[in-house]
Amino acid sequence: MTVQHEVPTEGAGEALEVWIDQDLCTGDGICAQYAPEVFELDIDGLAYVKSADDELLQEPGATTPVPLPLLTDVVDSAKECPGDCIHVRRVSDRVEVYGPDAG
Ligand code: SF4
Repeated sequence: MTVQHEVPTEGAGEALEVWIDQDLCTGDGICAQYAPEVFELDIDGLAYVKSADDELLQEPGATTPVPLPLLTDVVDSAKECPGDCIHVRRVSDRVEVYGPDAG
């Protein structure tokens, strides 16, 4: 039996962005392991999203675009996040497609 890697289909082809609710972040660093291009732990021990030019975005609710090649890694991060605090949403209508508030 082959094990198939789950490929996200929800939101595919649409521009997505991701943000972290630091109030719930446990600082375990899972997201930064899965998608270091998008997530990084700061010295305060919490995870933040990064801009396309690698700058840590520390304003509450700051979002960064999800590059399509990294979608699987970002979605896996949201699924595995122990704090349930990684939110992936459509840019167009801000509807969450992956994360604790996804329908
Ligand atoms: S996986 Fe979730 S709880 Fe863990 S560091 Fe990342 S945002 Fe924080």
